[in-house]
Amino acid sequence: MRQPDEKIRNFSNALLNAHNQVGQCQQCFHLTASKICEICNNIERDKTLICVVADSRDLLALERTREYKGKYHVLGGLISPMDGIGPEMIEITSLIQRVDKNSIKEVILALTPSVEGDTTSLYLAKLLKPFAKVTRIAYGLPVGSELEYADEVTLSRALEGRINMD
Ligand SMILES: [Zn+2]
Repeated sequence: MRQPDEKIRNFSNALLNAHNQVGQCQQCFHLTASKICEICNNIERDKTLICVVADSRDLLALERTREYKGKYHVLGGLISPMDGIGPEMIEITSLIQRVDKNSIKEVILALTPSVEGDTTSLYLAKLLKPFAKVTRIAYGLPVGSELEYADEVTLSRALEGRINMD
């Protein structure tokens, strides 16, 4: 309340600008200021590998491990019939199309171990199997915890110990 008007105005303008500039990557749906995000544009990363996460915070948590060198796909949520969130409300169709059109070797499902996470993983595994090998990260993660809060070591181990979804 004691801040001068000018300072408040600058701050809210900065917030508004950030809000207007940040959009979603047209390919993976990660937050970005450009059409295609840095990760999708990075030719050093393995484009035959896609790691599926619920949101950008989970992607950033996995990036902090520095273990993963593939690409991502951000669903923008999880299937949750209880909350009225069906498969058509998250980025599933775009994922299937992406895996179908590009020669993707493996899709790694990295979703929070919860009822919603497991439901979404099983649903995706069924749809993706005709196109690519489908794995999911191992439960090195504490059940019921959020992926974004896991420490780097736990997350790297979980990624290392991913299992086939047969
Ligand atoms: Zn992207």
